[in-house]
Amino acid sequence: MPLKGWIEVNELYCKGCDVCVHNCPQNVLALNMEALTPKGYHPAYLKLEGCTGCGVCAIVCPEAAITVYRESKAGVVPAKA
Ligand code: SF4
Ligand code: SF4
Repeated sequence: MPLKGWIEVNELYCKGCDVCVHNCPQNVLALNMEALTPKGYHPAYLKLEGCTGCGVCAIVCPEAAITVYRESKAGVVPAKA
């Protein structure tokens, strides 16, 4: 069974650069064209289920705006990217 994960995007830092969207191996990220960050960018968000908590998006994000969470036997833990 694939790992289940999800992410949080800190909208104070996200600059809508799309790098995470293009690097997600599951293709579950998009920019939210209906939202704006305080700085006026369209923020990244999880558009679909299927995030595995792999951490790639957090690694490639130039603003360190993404926190990844992953289910484990110990419960829900922040994934170390
Ligand atoms: S943790 Fe992995 S699967 Fe989940 S959104 Fe980020 S890159 Fe995609
Ligand atoms: S890579 Fe980071 S700054 Fe760029 S859209 Fe994704 S979350 Fe926002």
